[in-house]
Amino acid sequence: MSLPELIRDPAAWQRRCTAARDGGTRIALVPTMGYLHQGHLSLMREARRRADEGGRPGLSLATIFVNPTQFGPTEDLARYPRDLQGDLAKCGAAGVDMVLAPDNPGAVYPKDFQTWVDFTEVSKGLCGDRRPGHFRGVATVVAKLFGLSRPHVALFGEKDWQQLRVLQRMAVDLDMGVEVVGMPIVREADGLAMSSRNAYLTPEERGRAVAISRALGDARRRAGEGERDAAALSRGIQAAVEAAGMRVDYVELVHPERLRPVEHAVPGTRALVAAFLGRTRLIDNLALP
Ligand code: AMP
Repeated sequence: MSLPELIRDPAAWQRRCTAARDGGTRIALVPTMGYLHQGHLSLMREARRRADEGGRPGLSLATIFVNPTQFGPTEDLARYPRDLQGDLAKCGAAGVDMVLAPDNPGAVYPKDFQTWVDFTEVSKGLCGDRRPGHFRGVATVVAKLFGLSRPHVALFGEKDWQQLRVLQRMAVDLDMGVEVVGMPIVREADGLAMSSRNAYLTPEERGRAVAISRALGDARRRAGEGERDAAALSRGIQAAVEAAGMRVDYVELVHPERLRPVEHAVPGTRALVAAFLGRTRLIDNLALP
């Protein structure tokens, strides 16, 4: 599989994408922060498939940009893992045609930049409360990537469930004309949700990290056996994650779209966890039966 074309300059990227779109080419986009794993690659393979849906070859695009505006002042922006050469090879194998990787944030946020995307409800609670400004940064950069890339469809992972809901809301509310599609969480063999941040874990921490997906799986089993009390299910998840030596940031059972906490779990109720393992913040979620 050949390497995708690498473009550094957002303006050059926009010219290419606009010409393709105006020429009737179907465009699929996968925005990422790089250090790619199988979760990212599942999105890219689906982008390839959806780009080609129109009966002639479309354009499958990926972006690699560690977006500074979605990191808090004490978060891991400076040490976020990077491997552009490795990422390009993986993109090529997943059928990506072109990769935008701006080489500095100033290319994306010029000096006079002053427009932000904000939300009234969907970004409240969960990660929105624990990471102030996070979704404002995510939504703003994705809005820019949509404007630069002119996609018909964009693929995001369910691993970042609240992010997916935020971006689906944005695309509808701001009439962006982009179909925002969620893709299932890709997991390691033992169940740990794949994440670029898993690279931070020591081997010993990596062993304990599986407690999060196990706890969620236990909650799913208990819900399937008839436990409907959201507080009881949350307590079970929290206890299991803490027993593995992690500091729980939140455990919540919420309505899958509105993201408001529920008292009684019903089919589709989403259980979400964020927890610190050492300095590493891990998130995971699943749907209850
Ligand atoms: P990131 O590079 O972490 O910003 O992630 C880029 C995209 O990949 C987002 O839409 C994520 O939700 C998605 N993603 C990350 N990890 C996974 C995973 N384990 N399974 C599926 N999608 C994922």
